[in-house]
Amino acid sequence: MTSLLIKATENLKGSVKGKVVLRDDPNYEGVRKIWNAMIDRRPAVIVRCATEDDVPSAIRFARQNGLDISIRGAGHNIAGNAVCEGGMMIDLSTMKNIRVDVARRRAYVEPGATLADFDEAVQAHGLATPVGINSTTGISGLTLGGGFGWLTRKYGMTIDNLASTDVITANGKKLRASENENADLFWALRGGGGNFGVVTQFEFKLHPVGPEILAGLIVFPLDQAKRVLRQYREFVESAPEELSVWVVLRQAPPLPFLAKEVHGKGVVVLAVFYAGDMAEGEKLIAPLRRFGDAHGEHIGAQPYLQWQKAFDPLLTPGARNYWKSHNFTEFRDEALDTMIQFANRLPSPQCEIFIGLIAGAANRVPADAMAYGHRDAKFVLNVHGRWDDAAHDETCIAWARAFFKASAPYASAGAYVNFMTEDESDRVAAAYGANYARLIQTKRRYDPENVFHLNQNIKP
Ligand SMILES: Cc1cc2nc3c(=O)[nH]c(=O)nc-3n(C[C@H](O)[C@H](O)[C@H](O)COP(=O)(O)OP(=O)(O)OC[C@H]3O[C@@H](n4cnc5c(N)ncnc54)[C@H](O)[C@@H]3O)c2cc1C
Repeated sequence: MTSLLIKATENLKGSVKGKVVLRDDPNYEGVRKIWNAMIDRRPAVIVRCATEDDVPSAIRFARQNGLDISIRGAGHNIAGNAVCEGGMMIDLSTMKNIRVDVARRRAYVEPGATLADFDEAVQAHGLATPVGINSTTGISGLTLGGGFGWLTRKYGMTIDNLASTDVITANGKKLRASENENADLFWALRGGGGNFGVVTQFEFKLHPVGPEILAGLIVFPLDQAKRVLRQYREFVESAPEELSVWVVLRQAPPLPFLAKEVHGKGVVVLAVFYAGDMAEGEKLIAPLRRFGDAHGEHIGAQPYLQWQKAFDPLLTPGARNYWKSHNFTEFRDEALDTMIQFANRLPSPQCEIFIGLIAGAANRVPADAMAYGHRDAKFVLNVHGRWDDAAHDETCIAWARAFFKASAPYASAGAYVNFMTEDESDRVAAAYGANYARLIQTKRRYDPENVFHLNQNIKP
């Protein structure tokens, strides 16, 4: 960093309420770290925003000094675009205020909130909206890419529940985007990621949920995967939208309800979630137990908030991660066989193949209603390459890529941008499909110079 730039940051410090963190700051190392330990970049300047007014100052400073801008919500994204090399990181993780309007069932959420922050604030009033399944994920990145979770079958994607946003655009101007104001920008923000500006507030619609729901896991041996997956495929066709069943193929973690000798063995796990009458839920999930001879299960009534954190212990920050994802409208036998084949050669105890079921409300939204257009997707199939030691990078990445390639022929078109790695920029146009042309037009209008380019980039 040049002495000129260091001097200039003195002015920046005076113009923002938040902290300006430079490389010599004792907090720098902690602040630049994000969830995926594979990403190791060193911004020249980090502005830890305290209020939305800090954002235009940070953008102006970066542009005047020729610095690339990266935007950080909670820093969870696999591609690691939240942090840049040698540029300016606009760190929003320090802005976490949430206001709930109980009467109108709305939440007004600052961009640094994690899913845990959000769920806790709204569940205090018995309310929720669909968000992801790992509570340390950021509400910001999740929403801007689409967002799905246990409530998606019933209430749609996170963006289907977004009512408005406040955005600071590349020229530092604050805009409100909603169906009635700057509707083109609102259209683009619902799926278009960080391409159009820095979102400083999200307004969400809320629904009554819980506080108790029925949820848990049923664990079968991996050698029964074929019959379990075939029955799963049939079961979910007619399951009501209050019921969501996701699947994970992996090595068994040391869960207390599993016998010790099962730990570390290949398993197929059904993760079950039902938000409705408990007795009805028990009846609905009963057939799942007959899919095979289970190693064990742990299902029961529990607080929604607790279930929203159930997978956190498997998804802690600091591991190395390489994930890829396809959408599916159906699973042919060949797709199931491919999953089982790759689950039988997991390269690390943390690697997994994962099916998220999103069929339901999200499919009833027209594909051109907003930037996220995969309205035919019934399942999201993820390969989670995850390991600790850099020495295993090559093997684990090769396994994830090989599975992705082998399962591609059975996938539907498009991809979910929130699960794309940094080496997938060639998939961005395909990810948006027919909506891409309109995204380019909107990008030209709101960010013609591509100031916000460290993302799954839509080039103006
Ligand atoms: C363990 C794990 C579990 C996950 N589970 C789910 C899931 O269940 N459902 C699901 O839908 N997704 C899930 N995801 C994907 C997740 O939605 C994305 O990783 C998302 O980008 C994370 O948001 P973040 O704010 O934490 O990320 P960040 O890395 O901080 O941000 C990602 C990108 O979003 C943009 N951005 C962030 N905040 C703003 C803002 N305020 N204004 C403008 N641009 C911004 C930037 O371009 C940034 O690079 C999961 C990811 C992980 C790693």
